[in-house]
Amino acid sequence: MRLVSWTVPKPAEPMVLEERDETAGSGEALIKVAGCGVCHTDLGYYYDGVPTRHPFPLTLGHEVSGTVAEAGPGAEHWIGKSVIVPAVIPCGACDACTSGNGRICPKQTFPGCDVHGGFSSHLRVPAQGLCPVPDLSDRSANPTGLDLAELSVIADAVSTPYQAILRSGLDRGDLAVFVGVGGLGGFGVQISAAMGATVAAIDVNAERLEWMARHGASLTLRSDELDFKSLRRAVQRLAAERGIPTWRQRIFETSGTVAGQTTAFGLLGQGGHLSVVGFTPGKVEIRLSNVMALDATIQGNWGCLPEHYPTILRLVLSGAIAVRPFVERRPMASINQTFEDLRAHRILRRIILIPEH
Ligand SMILES: [Zn+2]
Ligand SMILES: [Zn+2]
Repeated sequence: MRLVSWTVPKPAEPMVLEERDETAGSGEALIKVAGCGVCHTDLGYYYDGVPTRHPFPLTLGHEVSGTVAEAGPGAEHWIGKSVIVPAVIPCGACDACTSGNGRICPKQTFPGCDVHGGFSSHLRVPAQGLCPVPDLSDRSANPTGLDLAELSVIADAVSTPYQAILRSGLDRGDLAVFVGVGGLGGFGVQISAAMGATVAAIDVNAERLEWMARHGASLTLRSDELDFKSLRRAVQRLAAERGIPTWRQRIFETSGTVAGQTTAFGLLGQGGHLSVVGFTPGKVEIRLSNVMALDATIQGNWGCLPEHYPTILRLVLSGAIAVRPFVERRPMASINQTFEDLRAHRILRRIILIPEH
């Protein structure tokens, strides 16, 4: 199939629209892109020299929903289906996958890094792990009336914090603290609240914090106005009011900044848990021995296993996690301007690029 892709010739060079031929191989699907979200990680590859595994020229984009247009042998039953493409697709067959560790599958496919991604009319991915989307015109299955393009953000911005929250063991009545409530953190706040946790949100942006106060956060704190000690005092006051000990507090670093990581580490209390969800190539100066002295846990989190997607999709379609107030659509032809706007922090919502082709 002839497809049209926004290609990065070399990092930081303007993306150009190029035609390319792709054929779905055995077990693969060619997906007509409905929408592709723009992630902080795309900016890392584009501007900051974060290495991709596929060499440039490369098409970025790993937050995709769409419709299967073509499929190779063994995947024909997917043709015509609406799907969400997980940002991380484990191979499903290696030792890591068969022992329940598909997150670190060495043969995983990460679109826009391992293979050409979703800033394109179509993309080619392994069909296993695709998450089928029910008929969205059926209002009983889709009461909030979301469309397929809006569901693209499930592929990373919603699913990645979901898996981090699941692995943290967050339980009803616990405290979840999100440092950074942009794309991932904003959805993390909502997921935690839906699970019955008390939630605190920390960010530099007052508007984003206002949204979070309406969508599950009991406490919102401005990290650009409060020093670290004031932040920590405010979080502990909330915990004390609700009778939540430090060992039932889960800190999520979702800003992907050095300042955010420093704050998140500092919030760890005895028996606490810190989940590193955001990414920055920057380095943080911390006293790692605190982890020992506090008997605390720090856990990284890479993507989300495809097996969790159907549950996440149900949470979104039911309205337990609001998507529409947190996303903004733009034509895919605005991709170069959109990357610049995101880099300059001129955009508050998750951008979904809609292909014209
Ligand atoms: Zn991402
Ligand atoms: Zn594998």
